[in-house]
Amino acid sequence: MRRKLVAGNWKMNGTRATLAELDAIAAAAADRPGVDVAVAVPFTLVMAAAERVPTLSIGAQDVHAADAGAHTGCISAAQVRDAGATFTIVGHSERRADQGETDADVRAKAGAARRNGLTVILCVGETLAERDAGRAEAVVTAQLAGSLPEGATADWLSVAYEPVWAIGTGRTPTIADVAAMHGAIRAELRRSIGNEADAVRLLYGGSVTADNAAGLLAAGDVDGALVGGASLTAAKFVPIIEAA
Ligand code: PEP
Repeated sequence: MRRKLVAGNWKMNGTRATLAELDAIAAAAADRPGVDVAVAVPFTLVMAAAERVPTLSIGAQDVHAADAGAHTGCISAAQVRDAGATFTIVGHSERRADQGETDADVRAKAGAARRNGLTVILCVGETLAERDAGRAEAVVTAQLAGSLPEGATADWLSVAYEPVWAIGTGRTPTIADVAAMHGAIRAELRRSIGNEADAVRLLYGGSVTADNAAGLLAAGDVDGALVGGASLTAAKFVPIIEAA
């Protein structure tokens, strides 16, 4: 039985004033012990968030593949762990597109996170052109195969399926398409890590809102959600936690 996980991704949003939103999110999470709730905040807020809401899982949105060194402007997994993070996102499509991150980069980052005691939400997803060309499953399973560290286990890994065309657009795949993709991801995980695959949580991400969360979360092989825009306020995020 996989517990549901609802994770927020604040992206490059939020200042210390925004942290008040976490109070209500943490309270809602405490009221629903059957659901795991997590929020990936900007690096600048990790320490303040972790200190403010110690019962909530606070994470980063990326980490460097190295533990330390001459990488001006970068942040390591050891540093975000030290600041109070318990998890990190890796391989978000915005980083794959904006920073040119490859599958090999994502694999190295996931390994660094694991090495430093963070759990990982590893993102994969196809573009609209790839879906229209009938290549969505091939693209996503290849991304996963390339990004997954060897010997990954469910106690530290979750995978988020985030179609690039659904992120921040208000568009979502059909429930059947989500279930089919999650089935394909589960099959690829079985190929890579055997029976351990059955315990890995698969999240759906892309324009999840209070209105569509219940349907998406009930789809086959969907074990939770990665939520961008609707995680920025407790008013929008708490109903998604409730749906889970
Ligand atoms: C995301 O970028 O991880 C995401 C799911 O964004 P949104 O919910 O805003 O589509």
